[in-house]
Amino acid sequence: MTLSIPFDNSYARLPAGFYSQQAPRPVSAPRLVAFNADLARLLNITPGGAKEMAEIFSGNTVPEGASPIAQLYAGHQFGQYNPQLGDGRAVLLGETVGSDGKRRDIQLKGSGRTPYSRSGDGRSWLGPVLREYMVSEAMYALGVPTTRALAAVETGDKVYREGALPGAVLTRVASSHLRVGTFQVFAARGDKRALKQLTDYAIQRHYPNADGPMGLLAAVRDTQAQLIAQWMGVGFIHGVMNTDNMAISGETIDYGPCAFLDVYHPETVFSSIDRMGRYAYANQPDIAVWNLAQLATALLRQLDDPESGVAQATEIVHAMPQLLRDHWLQVFAAKIGLSNPDPEDGALIGELLGIMADNQADFTNTFRALGTKTARDQFTDPAAFDAWAETWRVRLSTEPDPTKTLQAANPAFIPRNHRIEQMIDAALRGDYAPFHRLNAVLARPYDDQPDDDDLMRPPTPDEVVPATFCG
Ligand code: AMP
Ligand code: MG
Ligand code: MG
Repeated sequence: MTLSIPFDNSYARLPAGFYSQQAPRPVSAPRLVAFNADLARLLNITPGGAKEMAEIFSGNTVPEGASPIAQLYAGHQFGQYNPQLGDGRAVLLGETVGSDGKRRDIQLKGSGRTPYSRSGDGRSWLGPVLREYMVSEAMYALGVPTTRALAAVETGDKVYREGALPGAVLTRVASSHLRVGTFQVFAARGDKRALKQLTDYAIQRHYPNADGPMGLLAAVRDTQAQLIAQWMGVGFIHGVMNTDNMAISGETIDYGPCAFLDVYHPETVFSSIDRMGRYAYANQPDIAVWNLAQLATALLRQLDDPESGVAQATEIVHAMPQLLRDHWLQVFAAKIGLSNPDPEDGALIGELLGIMADNQADFTNTFRALGTKTARDQFTDPAAFDAWAETWRVRLSTEPDPTKTLQAANPAFIPRNHRIEQMIDAALRGDYAPFHRLNAVLARPYDDQPDDDDLMRPPTPDEVVPATFCG
């Protein structure tokens, strides 16, 4: 069998200033370690043999129809504008239109140096590749918009971080890799023409009903507000919500030092580089608004008189906090079994979160247990939960089918940090069994899977992962 990918590369047809042509750089001894056959089917990709797929998904062979490029973008990193970032360790092979009619990018990440690499080596080590593979696929199964993982390959080469580590390449699939930072780079340069082309392209690709730059801004606001509420609902902390890591499509993108909450606390931060807690769990909605304001600023630059658009842009951005609150209420009401929330339910949810934080309650297991009457066991002081539950049960009595709502809103399985670390350690020893087992369980996160109950367990004190790294 021969691998074939039906490419149709629209981004590479944009003007040369949007990217650099860049073939992936060869590796020594590629070995395919994961391939997502379900996703391949959706993309109309005909799989090939393991050897051939290792050659292609490592970048050693450029498949027919690909037009590999590194995309240009800029971005605010921890609030500081960096005028030029771009794909420094990735190349976009091209796009395919799937059996669902949707266009998606196919990108190799860890594929070697590009003109945007600066001092970086353009490579990834195995840990971040397996982490992104697993977490992005878990997010998909949880129902959160996200990029996806098509393949992972070990390169046979070493990369040098704290020490020598095995290199790897991830094949990432995304609705697109357009970021807030893609607009910022042209805005900062005052390149109105490029900004207009990019805006038209983004509208056509993602929001065909949007009317002009402000229509695009409002559409991005709406999908981002929904996305962030969903992150909050599964206890996800992105970790690096820089404007270059915020996709216009509304998908979660760039899984670096991301992590899921174990014990609930709103100020939780895992990322080793987030020393000020800018991207802490509970800050994510505010940061999304800040990022949208950067997009607004960039989009306005294409107007002949940017001042003339400020009032409308401001109105669009200023509506985002309320939208975030509305989506948050919808998501968290469902998590306590309420399918049709009233604004007052926000207080009830807030009270629960407050006692969870005071009582070191596990975020995922507490909500999951609401449907099974064992939730009180999650609290150091179970009486605190009992008091809350009395009010809750009164409110729940008018719900038609709270059990169903609870089950659908509260996963049993999330990719817990300590399991990811254990999975990576095993893979480094050549044992991929934990990787495959976790992937299989996380593909059905809302189902009870009694044989795999150990994957629901929070970390023991010596399993706790205090910090995550960028890779
Ligand atoms: P990220 O932290 O993945 O959002 O990356 C931020 C910027 O650093 C992007 O422009 C990346 O392409 C670049 N970058 C990250 N890692 C590397 C690397 N190993 N080599 C070259 N560039 C990199
Ligand atoms: Mg990035
Ligand atoms: Mg099993």
